[in-house]
Amino acid sequence: MSERKKFKTESKRLLDLMINSIYTNREIFLRELISNASDAIDKYHYLSLNDEKLVKEDQYHIDLGCDKENRIITVEDNGIGMTYEEINNNLGTIAKSGSSEFMKKLEENSDDAKNLEIIGQFGVGFYSAFMVASKVIVETKSPYSEKAYRFTSEGSETYVLDEIEKENHGTKITLYLRENTEEENYDNFLSSYEIERLVKKYSDYIRYPIQMWVSKSIPDKNEKGEIIEGKYHDETNLETFNSMIPLWKKNKSEVSDQELNDFYKQKFDGYEDPMLSIFTNVEGLISYNALLFIPSKAPYNLYSEQYERGLKLYTKGIFIMDKCKDLIPDYLRFVQGLVDTSDLSLNISREMLQQDYQIKKIATSVEKKILGELEKLKNDDFEKYQAFFKEFGINLKYGIYDSFGAKKDSLKDLLLYTSIHEDHLITLKEYVEHMKEGQEFIYYASNKSKEAVNAMPQLDALKKKGYDVLVFTDDIDEFTINILQEYDSKKFKSINQGDLEVLNEEEKKEIQDLKDEKKPLLDALKEALKDKVSDVILSERLVDSPVCLVSGEGLSFEMEKVLKQMPNQGDLKAQRILEINPHHDLFKALENTYNTDESVLNDYASLLLDQALLMEGMMIEDPASFSKKMCQLMIKASAVNEEDSKEKHIDE
Ligand code: ADP
Repeated sequence: MSERKKFKTESKRLLDLMINSIYTNREIFLRELISNASDAIDKYHYLSLNDEKLVKEDQYHIDLGCDKENRIITVEDNGIGMTYEEINNNLGTIAKSGSSEFMKKLEENSDDAKNLEIIGQFGVGFYSAFMVASKVIVETKSPYSEKAYRFTSEGSETYVLDEIEKENHGTKITLYLRENTEEENYDNFLSSYEIERLVKKYSDYIRYPIQMWVSKSIPDKNEKGEIIEGKYHDETNLETFNSMIPLWKKNKSEVSDQELNDFYKQKFDGYEDPMLSIFTNVEGLISYNALLFIPSKAPYNLYSEQYERGLKLYTKGIFIMDKCKDLIPDYLRFVQGLVDTSDLSLNISREMLQQDYQIKKIATSVEKKILGELEKLKNDDFEKYQAFFKEFGINLKYGIYDSFGAKKDSLKDLLLYTSIHEDHLITLKEYVEHMKEGQEFIYYASNKSKEAVNAMPQLDALKKKGYDVLVFTDDIDEFTINILQEYDSKKFKSINQGDLEVLNEEEKKEIQDLKDEKKPLLDALKEALKDKVSDVILSERLVDSPVCLVSGEGLSFEMEKVLKQMPNQGDLKAQRILEINPHHDLFKALENTYNTDESVLNDYASLLLDQALLMEGMMIEDPASFSKKMCQLMIKASAVNEEDSKEKHIDE
């Protein structure tokens, strides 16, 4: 059998990019192939625990080869190999769902460092072989297939599949290096020293021996064992290049920050040092070692469905699974790392894992540890904590909301907010400590930015009192606060919802008297707007502005906006209340109109409401009618002005 097949379009484009080498760091090809080999061995081992058809291996290894003369490098493993379908699916296609986005990102980006990051995230590792090779051969046998296959590709449109003889399960990859160019001397990769260097640099913690037959010139010795000057012979030995000791098995005090950073970059495809590394060793009712990392940047797909959260799970140093999501709650989905425990049986299945009591206990302990470290970071290095929060804080807010409050006590002190007074992020504790005398509530305002919040008329009274106001710009903020309800026995209060409760007794009485006095006017306005607002009242919160809109208790405007964006939530509406500033000139104008020309009041009322809506950033119902009324008003005003000036002339 020999078949020529076409690469799927996406793979073809990716191949082209690799061949025309979009980045200069070609040496990572070896890391990528070794990592695939190691994964393939992990898979074989895991399956062989439960599947008797798979022969138990007691020697797993990854063999490298280097043939200088023919300019060939080989990477061979005794892992799971591939069946006919798997070759086509895995090597003929970019199987990953994110592939098209990956392509887009690559083409948008000319920044090499970014591209590396992207390559890591998508794991298009195998194709990196074409950065250094003009021809790649993959010979492979799966224990689930009678036959073995050879995939040959020169990186053009097609690849060829042949049936071959191969006894053992596993995969051998042969790279035919490209011709040297002015920019790149591919021959450099053909030395055992260079290969050893690359293995040590990128693949030192791979748990299987990465070995190679290496010939070295050794000085001859005489019968007494003394070196004979100037006489050498060649000796060839099988050398293992990687140290293999898992970092997390070492003593915490022996592991440097540099090592942790390197480990993160190697194991978790990070291209920047992590923001925070946590190395923990727990002994007691449950025992485990964990290495946890908070990346310095959120992966681009953190909030998409394709993102898989989870920690790598090992038991007694043996790999069990890659993304164990039961080890980490959803709101900490950005944490990467691994857990190694001796408390699990080796051949535990995925289904059993979910119910496993030990796993639950470890997860609780890991979560506590992470929150503890964040608390520490906040206290020890607030600047760094702010950077963390800007990148991932939204997840902590989500954690409070998502747990219906169960986690609020452990998360509330980790929250940070912008406020109208402070120019750095502040904690709720700080807000409360800086509250003015007599201030009873923690005030907040939602809008798209601090500037927008600052311009909100509903803030007037609070500003006058010198109260600080938290600025909410994330969709989740109000939902989180709704669950939190209070901090340090101080209730949260929105600046544009319900009663603001800032007035003292005297001020309250004054406004109540006014309300009674102006009742007929207010009733008339209410009647004019009866289909649009639930009430028209005199405002306790406005100082400089004539009107504003507030919502009743329950759903807020912000929540209404957020819910509107979601499917099937369309009709939920916050209760609208129009507030009028009784001390503003406009109020006097309204009174005049009401007393002299009641018929115009309806137009005024609807103009006022529309203005208030616009200030809230909400849609007005009938823009055409708004504009028409506005025009009429302007024409009328100019007519009045004209009259005035005529009279003035006559007077003169
Ligand atoms: P990734 O490793 O991130 O999945 P790759 O492009 O490197 O992406 O590999 C694609 C797929 O090809 C792998 O997921 C794996 O199924 C298969 N594969 C690659 N190398 C090997 C190998 N040495 N043995 C078995 N399968 C392999």
